[in-house]
Amino acid sequence: MAENKKTDKTEKILGVKGMNDILPDDAPLWELFENTVQSVLKSYGYQQIRTPIVEPTALFARGLGAVTDIVEKEMYSFTDSMNGDELTLRPECTAGVVRSVLEHNLTYDAPKRLWYTGPMFRHERPQRGRYRQFHQVGAEAVGFTGPDIDAELIMLCQRLWDDLGLSDIRLELNSIGDAAERNRHRTDLIAYFEQHSELLDADAKRRLNSNPLRILDTKNPAMQDLVNGAPKLLDYLGEASLAHFEGVQSLLRHNNIPFTINPRLVRGMDYYNRTVFEWVTDQLGSQGTVCGGGRYDPLVEMFGGKPTPAVGFAMGVERLLELMKAATETFSRSQCDVYLVHQGDAAQLQAFVLGERIRDAGLDVVLHCASAAGAGSFKSQMKRADASGAAFAVIIGEDEVANSTATVKHLRDADNASNQHSVPQDSLIDYLIDQITGGDEHEHGHLHAGQIHTHH
Ligand code: ATP
Ligand code: MG
Repeated sequence: MAENKKTDKTEKILGVKGMNDILPDDAPLWELFENTVQSVLKSYGYQQIRTPIVEPTALFARGLGAVTDIVEKEMYSFTDSMNGDELTLRPECTAGVVRSVLEHNLTYDAPKRLWYTGPMFRHERPQRGRYRQFHQVGAEAVGFTGPDIDAELIMLCQRLWDDLGLSDIRLELNSIGDAAERNRHRTDLIAYFEQHSELLDADAKRRLNSNPLRILDTKNPAMQDLVNGAPKLLDYLGEASLAHFEGVQSLLRHNNIPFTINPRLVRGMDYYNRTVFEWVTDQLGSQGTVCGGGRYDPLVEMFGGKPTPAVGFAMGVERLLELMKAATETFSRSQCDVYLVHQGDAAQLQAFVLGERIRDAGLDVVLHCASAAGAGSFKSQMKRADASGAAFAVIIGEDEVANSTATVKHLRDADNASNQHSVPQDSLIDYLIDQITGGDEHEHGHLHAGQIHTHH
């Protein structure tokens, strides 16, 4: 046990290390990312699936392989104190999706194109691009056999990068064959590394007999020569695996998706076979992989289902958002179209009613409410209005109440800035819409609200 630190009741309790708050200033970026992802996936016919954040520990132990990084040292596992169940915060979502597909027999009629998004949990050393709670978007195509779906998934990623304005992400591709092919390679690989055992680092020695393929993935510079000279899995692929790999490549070429073949590319999980790929950038230091995926034909059977081929990918949202931030100078989103300023009890009542009517018309309204600073002087309310990013302040004071009018102040329009217009409350909505659309009613709805403004 850690030392039993006395906690002062007034001491601030901070969040868990490596688990981040996503603050309102960053929300527009997340929303833009999520909306883009959603529309791209929809445009390829992928359907969303939402699985629980907690799954039985056995699901990952069996699904990911006992000697993978994740299962060896990164999982948040615990015993449910109520009933003794062994549970784990999901470190990834493929296992959960496949469990769910099987549990609900989702591929009974036809293969399924699925996607998910949400937080994942891994107990890693927090650093740039590597967190303990992070987010992934992933897709899983379950029940598809051919290279066509592999290529489709890759092209879908390319479309997403294009739509997000990210140009500096490149594709690395490899095939790791099937189990028999990998076994023959593995035997030769172990023999090769044993011949050069004096050059292996501690990690490699540990993996030599458990997961020698992973040694090829080492980031240790001192081992690069050794690894470069090792037997290449590609040379062990049989006819069917090679044809599949060639099929993926030819579809990518036909669709002008550039790629490089990286014969050393392997994926961290045990369940992969044949096609594996990673999308990599040089802009994020050593955490440069923004998306990884591949085929995992054996997994469904490992989970007790009928043999069902499948392929998928998972991308790291935080890493992609960092790229988006770098590609965009400022990123702002106004909180609302209209900020409602009011003075006095009668005005407050009218402001509430007007606020609802303006919202009915499809505009976003922030109604000034009392805070610790008090109900707010006119001046301080106008300051809030300005800071909200609203296009208009709508002001209801004593005179407005008496005359059933509203005063509209243009906050963004420099020419109009000094202009305040007194508008009858009955025609306030028409006035606002007219101002927003520049007199063209048909445009209403396009201009209003919630728009994200990016300034390159
Ligand atoms: P890495 O080699 O960087 O540890 P990984 O092989 O463990 O990656 P995957 O399990 O393939 O990663 O997850 C897919 C993607 O999720 C990664 O390419 C990365 O973008 C993102 N990712 C993985 N782990 C983290 C993390 N701890 N924090 C932030 N993003 C992560
Ligand atoms: Mg990892």
